[in-house]
Amino acid sequence: MAISIKISKTPQSRIHLCDFDNIEFGKIFSDHMFRVDYKNGAWQNPEILPYGPISIAPSLSAIHYGQAIFEGMKAFKSTDGTPLLFRPTDNAKRLNVSAVRMGMPEIPEELFMAGLTELIKLDQNWIPTKDGSALYIRPFMFATDDFVGVRPSENYSFIIFCCPVNSYYPKPIKVKVEEKYVRASTGMAGFAKAAGNYGISMLPSYEAKKEGYDQIIWTDGNNHEYVEESGTTNLFFVVDDNLVLTPHLDGNILNGITRNSCIQLLKAKGYAVEERKISINEIVEWSKSGRLTDCFGTGTAAIIAKIAAIGYKGNDYILPDAEQRVVSNYLYQTLYGIQCGKVEDPFHWSVKLD
Ligand SMILES: *Cc1c(COP(=O)(O)O)cnc(C)c1O
Repeated sequence: MAISIKISKTPQSRIHLCDFDNIEFGKIFSDHMFRVDYKNGAWQNPEILPYGPISIAPSLSAIHYGQAIFEGMKAFKSTDGTPLLFRPTDNAKRLNVSAVRMGMPEIPEELFMAGLTELIKLDQNWIPTKDGSALYIRPFMFATDDFVGVRPSENYSFIIFCCPVNSYYPKPIKVKVEEKYVRASTGMAGFAKAAGNYGISMLPSYEAKKEGYDQIIWTDGNNHEYVEESGTTNLFFVVDDNLVLTPHLDGNILNGITRNSCIQLLKAKGYAVEERKISINEIVEWSKSGRLTDCFGTGTAAIIAKIAAIGYKGNDYILPDAEQRVVSNYLYQTLYGIQCGKVEDPFHWSVKLD
């Protein structure tokens, strides 16, 4: 069944106000947004309207009890000017995984895709073309019951808006192994892109920043012995430039689409890739013996965030010079190349919006 979306265009585009050469991440929004509401057990009245404030009740359930989930994805411009999306249905599927964990209704993939593609087509002039840039897309869902009480909401809104962005972490980052706070543990919701998982990360990251680090590496909730992920990126470690390791999907970390893409690209290139538990002690040993040749985070925003140093128990373990990183440079160039349609796409990840 075709999905019909009501479209109300902005009377006045704001695009001329955007300085595409100097975009601050997450602060500029494109002209329109997509919205659909869940009422009486069904998603209703999908519409595209000018980006702008929404009115909410002070008792809005999402802001009290945290039934709120989100996604992050990007659109790119191909060389012929057509918008390209990267693995969009994987984001739709993961949003529904998060929804189930949070007791929220799933959104049909066709509805997610219809709203997304109409919005990107309408706002395609907002997709920046400068090297390293993209249109960041933020789909999210939240509970809208006007009710004080802890139970799943009966009403929800799903919205998609977009921000033109340049590259996220231009410089390699310093990360600190977190040994006091825990992000997620067995039975919790670490695999869900749920708002609360980020709320609890603010203080730990702020404390690490005061010590001179850009981000933290989360560790397991039992003994802080194994690494999990960092900020909004999954982690990769490269030993002797040929063995690539990344923490396995144990339910505590996000099933990153960039992570999965990197694993597939590396395997196709003949690298040994191990998804398993990785202890801090192993990482320290590899670093001390000069075998830790690369280390990076993967995520939609940064694509590849190279790690310059890992802080652990007062020592900084320094990684090789960023320019010489064989694996992270290969992954960044290949992934960003595929996303922009400039590199062959053997896995058919890139979706053209004609
Ligand atoms: C979004 C996110 C990632 C990366 O996922 P991608 O699909 O690659 O963008 C990793 N970890 C956390 C905690 C995240 O929120």
